[in-house]
Amino acid sequence: MSDGTQTELQRGEPRRDPKRRKPMVGLQPEGDVDWSSYRGVLVVVEQRAGVAKPVSWQLLGEGRRLADKLDAPLLALVMGHQVAHLAEEAICYGADRVYLCDSPELRDYRTRPYSRVCLHVIRTFKPEIVLMGATYTGRDLAGAIATHLPTGLTADSTMLDVDEDRLLLASRPAFSEKMLATILCKQFKPQMATARAGVFEALPRDPSRTGEIITVPPQIPPEDIATEVLEFIAATDRVNLAEAEVIVAGGRGLGGPAAFAMLKELADALGGVVGASRAAVDLGWIDHRHQVGQTGTTVRPKLYFAIGISGAVQHVVGMQNAECIIAINKDPAAPIFQIAHYGIVGDLFQIVPAITEAVRARKA
Ligand code: FAD
Repeated sequence: MSDGTQTELQRGEPRRDPKRRKPMVGLQPEGDVDWSSYRGVLVVVEQRAGVAKPVSWQLLGEGRRLADKLDAPLLALVMGHQVAHLAEEAICYGADRVYLCDSPELRDYRTRPYSRVCLHVIRTFKPEIVLMGATYTGRDLAGAIATHLPTGLTADSTMLDVDEDRLLLASRPAFSEKMLATILCKQFKPQMATARAGVFEALPRDPSRTGEIITVPPQIPPEDIATEVLEFIAATDRVNLAEAEVIVAGGRGLGGPAAFAMLKELADALGGVVGASRAAVDLGWIDHRHQVGQTGTTVRPKLYFAIGISGAVQHVVGMQNAECIIAINKDPAAPIFQIAHYGIVGDLFQIVPAITEAVRARKA
């Protein structure tokens, strides 16, 4: 979080004068402003190669709820090259008005050009709340913008709300995840937060929705194009749990790292990815990138297998929003069965290969 934010534990004045911050070349921090002119909830839509990140639509879903509570418009900002279709999509997912900045200079994400456009839109159209996904890009962009406006930023929120004073209540785990802190930004606007993917629910896509699209000129000075993206090489070992539609997750009940190969076979048969509980990760059976839960990734797949996982609250909080949960556990009293849609009581070493075989047979 940057200056201007306060937790419920600490509600003092911000410690540093924001005007002492050094602005980016050519960008000036806000002078005296009338905060009451700030209105609306702005969601920055993240995309790569013209494909939106699901967290963008999830944030529009949550942004719609906040905007309705504030009786304010829900706004979206779409930046990129050949991304006009995403402006239409943003309306289908709940936006009232979309700012569209479409330029070849925005084809690949780079901090300075994207910040420039964001800052221009925020300063011109004055939203009271700005939300972005807590992705690598969202974290980078939100930090840059919050610094240069300057305003407060709550990173990695898992709950959002607004109070009667139109203040954003952004909550996130704090102190080694042992408590939930609600963070407010009272002195500055806009109030900014990044939010984890998979936590909020997108509205059903409604193609009959109508809204306004405002084209924003890029106005990116040459000094902001300091880097050039020569090639984009996707990491082959990346585990995209947050966007996976099927996750086959295993826990301590697997008894060792070898059994994860069995889970991978089921995941491959279903076109999914392998997840894990923290116990399995802490035991060194699988990499942390696979961990689901409070200190791992929050997921919202269509199908989630919890195999040899007991259902501790720290695990459940990260996967309870899955559309369908199938739990396999030899202990009929395991807490995971309380949230599972389907429960199979038995030995995972017999059940998992049988399911994989059945899935393969169905596909053949
Ligand atoms: P266990 O609780 O040991 O459960 C193993 C299960 O396997 C049992 O239910 C057992 O009946 C079953 N089993 C054993 N053998 C078989 C078999 N042959 N067939 C079928 N079933 C079998 N945990 C997370 O997962 N994610 C997090 O992000 C996370 N964050 C945490 C943050 C904090 C601050 C703390 C304190 C804890 C966190 N934890 C997290 C840990 C969490 O509390 C649990 O310890 C952990 O989730 C347990 O993992 P598990 O279910 O794999 O293991």
